[in-house]
Amino acid sequence: MTSDIPRPPDHMSPEEFRRNGHAMIDWVANYLQTADDFPVFSQVEPGEVAAMIPDAASEAGEPFEALLRDLDDVVMPGITHWQSPNWFAYFPANTSPPSILAELASAGLGVQGMLWSTSPAATEIESKVLDWLVDMMELPQSWKSTGPGGGVIQMSASDSTHAVLVVARHRNRERGHAEDMVVYASTQAHSSVAKGCTVAGIGHVREIAVDDTWAMRPDALRKAVEADLADGLLPIAVVSVVGTTGTTAVDPVSGIADVASEHNLWHHVDAAYAGNAMVCEEFRHHIKGVDRVDSYTFNPHKWMMVNFDCNVLWVADRVPLIETLSVLPPYLVNKATESGAVIDYRDWHVPLGRRFRALKLWWVIRSYGISGIQALIRSHVVLAGSLADRIVSDDRFDLFAPHPFGLVCFTHRGGNDTTSALADALNNSGKVAVTPSTLDGTAYIRVVVGQARTTSHHVDELWNLIDALAPSVSR
Ligand SMILES: *Cc1c(COP(=O)(O)O)cnc(C)c1O
Repeated sequence: MTSDIPRPPDHMSPEEFRRNGHAMIDWVANYLQTADDFPVFSQVEPGEVAAMIPDAASEAGEPFEALLRDLDDVVMPGITHWQSPNWFAYFPANTSPPSILAELASAGLGVQGMLWSTSPAATEIESKVLDWLVDMMELPQSWKSTGPGGGVIQMSASDSTHAVLVVARHRNRERGHAEDMVVYASTQAHSSVAKGCTVAGIGHVREIAVDDTWAMRPDALRKAVEADLADGLLPIAVVSVVGTTGTTAVDPVSGIADVASEHNLWHHVDAAYAGNAMVCEEFRHHIKGVDRVDSYTFNPHKWMMVNFDCNVLWVADRVPLIETLSVLPPYLVNKATESGAVIDYRDWHVPLGRRFRALKLWWVIRSYGISGIQALIRSHVVLAGSLADRIVSDDRFDLFAPHPFGLVCFTHRGGNDTTSALADALNNSGKVAVTPSTLDGTAYIRVVVGQARTTSHHVDELWNLIDALAPSVSR
């Protein structure tokens, strides 16, 4: 009888897995060494990758060699090379050898860390490493897992911001309807704030005016809150951004904290990119007042050599977060949870299941050391400064915004069309990737020095390209 039960194929055998695994590591090592040989942006047309893939899955299994071959033939043409040292677009999304190896170990263990008891190491390493980061970045001690607060790894900064906006709504549920609630952020805040309000069902998002450095004006925030109160609305939260996506503007956390405490607003800080710089003491003045906020998020997956996904959220007080997101169905009841002695991270975010992402953060910090990460950040900021100096001293260009971190924004004096054409020419060269953007009707070019392998050589080459492609200013 049992012989009729189909047996799942033994694919791969341990020997094959070992052999294929070695081949795969060789492939990745080779890729990282040669990432700069490819045109930075993928050159495929829409549908080109899909056209290389059969319309249906094959009935019989295929050997690994076929999969690896298609990695080169099918996948690589459609890859945009975020790991190229000539990557100056968006913000970086760095990986690194220790991070890759940790992902491999995590995949091999294949654990699902929703509860402490479903893999105690996943939870305890996460708490411990996020406590390390509190010290590494001189953040409030109360955010440690040993205090009233605590940290949790999420998939993205957007998830963290969405989650805290749900908390802000929940803790105000007895004061009014969600449709009457208002969340505040500057005109320059990330789109995740507006999306988070949609997720949380919050009725209103107010865009607050900025000053001439594109940073939120606390006086304008206070006026907006007072006007909403006068209209019978219910202000519940404000999001400060440290390092906006457009220009890395820095909202004044301390001034915003004053307004937040006057009006009992949940104060969330989005430091998705710039938060990484806080590992270096000289950038910490940008988050002055952070000891008075309710939550804070940053992305090691942007600038700390931990590959996507790895976002960190800290809360100053974990109780409202857990109260909002904890649901305990009978099949998750267990002794450790009941003892109250452990953290169950499933209560700290929207999903239930969670990957063992702490491992890669732990391995990256241990591999490079605090000094290695500081050196990376500092080298990028110095290189960005040297690029800005060249831009300033060339009469074709103007800087468009201050450059407190690794992002340099500039315009061509020929105007919007010339600036946009220059950005297109840079990207079409295949040699670099930059980001064209606009703000208040002005076209500008965003250049982020932040890829882990970018050196002065790559920034010099970028400048030579800008110099060669930019027309002179007609008089
Ligand atoms: C990149 C960025 C985000 C979004 O990060 P994800 O992790 O992709 O959600 C949010 N806020 C700011 C300021 C950013 O720069």
